[in-house]
Formats: sequence, C-alpha cells, structure tokens
Amino acid sequence: MLRFRGCVGLGKVLVAAAWPYINYVPHLGTLLPLLSADVVARYYRLKGDDVVFVSGSDEHGTPIEVEAIRRGIHPKELADRNHKIVSDLLERYGISLDNYTRTESPLHKEFVRKHHLKIYKNGYIFTKETELPYCPKCKRFLPDRFVEGTCPYCGYGEARGDQCDRCGRLLDPTKLVNPHCTICRTKPVIRRVKHWYFDMPKFTDQLLDYIKSNKQLPDNARNFSLKLLQEGLKPRP
Ligand SMILES: [Zn+2]
Ligand SMILES: [Zn+2]
Repeated sequence: MLRFRGCVGLGKVLVAAAWPYINYVPHLGTLLPLLSADVVARYYRLKGDDVVFVSGSDEHGTPIEVEAIRRGIHPKELADRNHKIVSDLLERYGISLDNYTRTESPLHKEFVRKHHLKIYKNGYIFTKETELPYCPKCKRFLPDRFVEGTCPYCGYGEARGDQCDRCGRLLDPTKLVNPHCTICRTKPVIRRVKHWYFDMPKFTDQLLDYIKSNKQLPDNARNFSLKLLQEGLKPRP
C-alpha cells in the first residue's frame, strides 16, 4: 500500500512505502507499491520539493518465523539473507529510495520502543485474558500465521488466524473453521493466556472525522474505511 503525506506548499514531502515482509524474495508484483511510491517521489523532486523517500525490510512477525522453521534455519539468518537480496534488487531496479532500512536497525528499535511506551503511558494499551490456539505437538501458542483454517465469514480455505486475505476481515483465531497448525498440521486446542491489546476503538471518532474531511482520499478507500468503522473497530492484539 502506498501512503504519502506532506506539506506540498512548504516544499517538504515524505514518501513512505509499506515495508515488505522478507520471509521470501519478492516477485515482480510485490515491487509495485515501491514502484508507485518511486513515481511520486520523482514527481515531487522534479517539482523542486525537498523529498525523503523511505522504506525497509520488515524482519519481525510470524511470517519470518514460519518460513525459518520450514527451512530449518534461525529467523535472523533468513532475515539477513533476504534483506541483502531485496536491498540489491531495489537498487538494480533503480527505486530512488533515500533510506531503505530494516526493523532490526538499532535506530528503528529505539524509535519503536519510545513510541510504544508513549502509547502505553497515554492509556491506549491494555491487557486481558484471551483464548488462543495451542499446538499440543509443537508445544507452543499459535499466533496469527501459525494457524490457518477456513474463514467463518467468506469460506476462504486458507485464512490466517488474524486475518482473511480474501475478504480482508480481522479474525479471531478461535473462530476459524477446521483450524490446523501451519508447522505440523495438527489440530490446535484452545488455551487461556494474558495478552496485550492496542485500544483501536478509542480512535473511532477521530478516524471518522479524518476520513470524512480528507478530500484526497479516493472514494473506494473512503467507503472501505467507513465500512470498517461502522462494523466497529476491535482492539488489536
Ligand atoms: Zn474471509
Ligand atoms: Zn504444530
């Protein structure tokens, strides 16, 4: 997804392309968001604006861990290898990034730590007990991509525990139909565990105002976002 925001009148523009997961080496299609962002960055540079175009490799999260387990290597080894390949590819394709970094960079980690602490101190993070799928064979809880099954809303057979890639809905992993552990394909059991949540519903009114008053949003993006808000935002684990 391409996001950009900036004060065009002041001549400072930030172009931020979504960070690719590097659990695999991206194919041509995954280059598209970066390519679109590249066009935007070049346009503003030609206009004479002061542009910073940034992105980076997303080395965290379960896709990396799942793939590393599948290959029998450490996640860090997979991330190091793929980050290098992806960085080289972007350079060879002439994507005009000012900074292509990675989530493991000390600067990135420090920023995220401070940012999360600020969110926590301002009361937007809470804990509660929840039920999560647990694989008795692997002896581990199964967050998002570690469990797959059929989407209870649209019937898609390969929905992940956290989200359905076909209908786009956020999912409760315990509601998946015919779930299985993605490592060993065992049917998980449900166990109770304490979990951290980002309190998304607290932002509902602010988001409604922003989406309704933002004239730059295309209609389909506005309607999609409004539909999500009408259905009610859920706290994000
Ligand atoms: Zn679905
Ligand atoms: Zn398992």
